[in-house]
Amino acid sequence: MPYHTGVKRVFLLEYAWLAGDMGWFVPTPSTAEERGKPKPREWADVPAAGILVEHDDGLVLVDLGVHPEAREVWPKELFAVFPVTKFTDENRLENQLKAIGYKPEDIDYVVFTHLHLDHTGHAYLFRDSKAAIVLHKKELTHALYSIWIGRPGAYVPSDIEQLRGANLHPFEGAHLELLPGIDLIWVGGHTPGSTMVKVETKAGNTYIFTGDIVHLPIELEVEAKGWLLGDYEEYITALKKLKLLLKRPRTYAIIPHDPELFKKYPKAPKPLE
Ligand SMILES: [Zn+2]
Repeated sequence: MPYHTGVKRVFLLEYAWLAGDMGWFVPTPSTAEERGKPKPREWADVPAAGILVEHDDGLVLVDLGVHPEAREVWPKELFAVFPVTKFTDENRLENQLKAIGYKPEDIDYVVFTHLHLDHTGHAYLFRDSKAAIVLHKKELTHALYSIWIGRPGAYVPSDIEQLRGANLHPFEGAHLELLPGIDLIWVGGHTPGSTMVKVETKAGNTYIFTGDIVHLPIELEVEAKGWLLGDYEEYITALKKLKLLLKRPRTYAIIPHDPELFKKYPKAPKPLE
């Protein structure tokens, strides 16, 4: 029997652009010759992207980008190291959806790859929503634990607060088929609950939305992450699993912080098929 998928179209959403020291993404240690001769640190400009999946059985939104008032609502030290460098009205989730013909109320599922600052920004739109909010249980417990011990790291407490009492559906284990053709693959590695989203379209293409298990494509070559590394063993296992999946025909990685992302793939309202 042929594999059944209900995925019609996939849209790539441009939520914002941020910048950060390259050391967050890829290890960049100085050498003995450079000791005592500091050189300028390299920075990377990266988009924050999400996806909208149009499925026979509902609309699935993956990740919620950056809060429109990030400069005000993020802890000051977070904005200092990850400044938002581009955010216009067009980047608001409502307007990203509107360009495709949808509203936030139309969303049936919100999936989080993880709960860091650049993935939860529009959570306030789903506080009282009918949408099922799906994420790995380890991510929710870790975010709450981090906030409660006063070490929120890259979690924004006011974004996470929006999820209190929301229509949450945390899942456990390594795999959840959300809908036919949409698979959530837990990997950890970056944060304890980091999850990839695999989407197989009716046109026969498979897109793997990596979340931040890969920040920049160069990571796939060097197989190393910078200061944003969580658990090394989970991380390397995740990379090997991703690379194995990418060996399959017509299977493509969507790396949400890839600076070349919108050169490689069209952004909404143009779909991927
Ligand atoms: Zn991110």
